[in-house]
Amino acid sequence: MTDPAKAGCIFCRIVAGELSCKKLYEDENILAFRDVHPLAPVHGIVIPKRHVPTLDDFASGDDALLGRIMLVASRIAKEHGLAGYRVVMNIGSLGGQTVFHAHLHILGGRQMSPLG
Ligand code: 5GP
Ligand code: ZN
Repeated sequence: MTDPAKAGCIFCRIVAGELSCKKLYEDENILAFRDVHPLAPVHGIVIPKRHVPTLDDFASGDDALLGRIMLVASRIAKEHGLAGYRVVMNIGSLGGQTVFHAHLHILGGRQMSPLG
């Protein structure tokens, strides 16, 4: 049966292989791929394969999964030779989130401006 929360989720469709992506990393629980509209020479998106809408929807037992997501971003940075980079997670509409399957952006390959 289709989970209504996942129905139509673009990132779930990428996980399912229904939509293509340029893969950067994959394991049992995590997938990373290039952002379709890159904001930097290296712009990756790291997601849990499980559908979790926002950071606020992770369970208390997801500590390791969230830690792994951060470490995958670091791994991608190393693989691309990035001496510095930025990781960003937008949470909720007010936080600028547009795809409601939690994800970490990794941006690098250019000088980042200060936040704010
Ligand atoms: P958000 O604004 O939710 O933090 O980030 C969503 C990101 O997903 C955006 O940067 C957008 O370019 C990217 N995105 C949206 N649809 C697709 C898609 O179908 N494929 C890929 N690779 N990225 C997508
Ligand atoms: Zn999803």
